[in-house]
Amino acid sequence: MALDHLKKRIDKALRKEKDGAAIQPVQMQMDSKFNFRCYPGVSCFTRCCRNMNIILTPYDIIRLKQRLGLTSDMFLSLYAEPEILGITGVPVARLKMLEERDGRCPFVTENGCQVYSDRPVCCRYYPIGLASLRQKEKSGGEEEEFFFLIKEEHCKGFQEPDEWTVRSWREDQESDFYDRMNREWMELLLRKRSFGEESEMPPKAKELFYMVSTNMERFRRFVFGSRFLDTYVVDEKTLKKILEDDVELMQFGFEYLKHAVFGAESPVLKLREEILDKTVKQIIKRRKKKRRRLEKLAKGRR
Ligand code: SF4
Ligand code: SF4
Repeated sequence: MALDHLKKRIDKALRKEKDGAAIQPVQMQMDSKFNFRCYPGVSCFTRCCRNMNIILTPYDIIRLKQRLGLTSDMFLSLYAEPEILGITGVPVARLKMLEERDGRCPFVTENGCQVYSDRPVCCRYYPIGLASLRQKEKSGGEEEEFFFLIKEEHCKGFQEPDEWTVRSWREDQESDFYDRMNREWMELLLRKRSFGEESEMPPKAKELFYMVSTNMERFRRFVFGSRFLDTYVVDEKTLKKILEDDVELMQFGFEYLKHAVFGAESPVLKLREEILDKTVKQIIKRRKKKRRRLEKLAKGRR
């Protein structure tokens, strides 16, 4: 995902800066200015669209598969590969670069990006990155977001006269809209911490997370074709929306993950009373069993 990619780029940039090389991350505000233009006339045109680590957000996949007229299954098998995200240990889909074509992106041609209006969020951000850092001295340990310029030496777009502010660039690239679409998913990635620093996300939870993050048709079958609706109460209006609309289903999926994987309450889906009773009884039984085992162990040690 963009955050992971950007963090790697910051790390890379900071390392290069120490070596005195050309990449210089500069912290920026909304009204900070920079010069940039990427168009077929630049000598480096399309050269950066290769060997990129592009993590696809759920919304990226919906836009791309609709653009290409594919199902999620077809899109994933042709253009993506699964990856465990380093910073959180959760499974995500990465855009597969073409090894047989020098690591080029499958969507790049000499005329530019063939999916430009539906390109992934990662491609929209460049050259403005968004990062969040813990700034103890400024905000009492709160995370603080800031923008920075990724000024890479090979990119000739910075030599063009077109002037932007961070705000006007983000408007032009629809970054705010994409951020709104991706925010909840990003938050879910970071909630992985609720499993504890050392513990692995259970395999079943990983499976659910990957399904909701990458495959709307499969998730729809899961909701309407399994015992899902015997377990949860979902109102008719929501059911109608998620049956027809992938983006609505994606947002519903985030609510489901919050509940099923991270144990949070959700306003849009509730466990049925009988299932809730059964779940509570199972939890009490498990706790009693655990307590008896611990008592037995303690007796054995005495
Ligand atoms: S999706 Fe488009 S902009 Fe992004 S790397 Fe591929 S060709 Fe370049
Ligand atoms: S290197 Fe910069 S100017 Fe060249 S194609 Fe990539 S983004 Fe555009």
